[in-house]
Amino acid sequence: MPSPAVPVPASVPGGDLAGGLPIGLTSRPGRRQPPPRHLADLDPAGRRAAASQLGQQGFRADQLSRHYFARLTDDPADMTDLPAGDRAELAGALLPRLLTAERELTCDEGTTRKTLWRALDGAYIESVLMRYPGRVTMCVSSQAGCGMACPFCATGQAGLTRNLSAAEIVAQVVAGARALAAGEVPGGPGRISNVVFMGMGEPLANYAHVLGAVRRLTDPVPDGLGISQRGITVSTVGLVPAIGRLAGEGLSVRLAVSLHAPDDGLRDELVPVNRRWKVAEVLAAAWAYAAATGRRVSIEYALIRDVNDQAWRADALARLLAGQLAHVNLIPLNPTPGSRWTASRPADMREFEARLAARGVPVTVRDTRGTQIDGACGQLAATDRAGG
Ligand code: SF4
Repeated sequence: MPSPAVPVPASVPGGDLAGGLPIGLTSRPGRRQPPPRHLADLDPAGRRAAASQLGQQGFRADQLSRHYFARLTDDPADMTDLPAGDRAELAGALLPRLLTAERELTCDEGTTRKTLWRALDGAYIESVLMRYPGRVTMCVSSQAGCGMACPFCATGQAGLTRNLSAAEIVAQVVAGARALAAGEVPGGPGRISNVVFMGMGEPLANYAHVLGAVRRLTDPVPDGLGISQRGITVSTVGLVPAIGRLAGEGLSVRLAVSLHAPDDGLRDELVPVNRRWKVAEVLAAAWAYAAATGRRVSIEYALIRDVNDQAWRADALARLLAGQLAHVNLIPLNPTPGSRWTASRPADMREFEARLAARGVPVTVRDTRGTQIDGACGQLAATDRAGG
């Protein structure tokens, strides 16, 4: 069940940005022990300060950064440039193993790998690696569970467990990068080129840690993983103040808005946060983001049979987006078990797409692989909790 409604205190990360949420929604993480501090939670200066606190020279932190972000290792045995007597202590204090792979599923001849992770407190999250010709995308979780309660989403039904730390987010990408570098993914050794925050959670409800993760992912090696900012996509259901704050960060990451309906009547039901920030406000924030960054905003629209896939809604969506720096991603919904929400008929999907295209709105239907992945968002963890 979604967590009960609570006023969000300003001291909660993201709380000032997501405050005043409607009944049934929450951005407040559960009362769990936070994960231990990790090097990837800190900027380079913070890492050196942490090394000093351990009685070590600051440059030891730089050495550890190189191991983690360049060599993709957190195993003290690999760290032969550190004094043998200090390796275990340094790695234990600054590179604790935060996530354990509980289960791995592959499809598309091994080029899609979905991992269910267990955090140290037992929380489950998942990530997906997708290799395409010429690029590799990691889809990561930003929260364990989600407090946004979208009724068609398995994760939303389970509610929010807690925010992930920046290092827990980065660890999902490092694990993918390691598998790629080791040649474990068909296609030969490779690198992660794109990261999308479209796994479990509402990224902008965990603003500070997501931003920290974006910095670690995009800082040049060895301070970070050196992924291009343009390769990062942060998605949101429409937390308007947080979109505004992200626009002012001076980053060039892409924003994806999960719209799912062009009219407030339906969106209030499909994306309950719409009761707080209406379609017009969300899109105004999105266009301001596009103006500030020069990046085209991605409008995500899950096509749900007889719910939001009518031709008139395609026309309404086209009117909202006409002339804007936007691109629509249509996602055929892959239903969660036992759900009354299901994918649109292919003919309705084609009609919806054609109506947008006819009005000059750039639109694509997410490919089969993306559909499978999106449909499975939250399902792997949900299945595991059920013992399936
Ligand atoms: S669709 Fe996204 S925002 Fe909505 S409940 Fe699911 S994970 Fe949360």
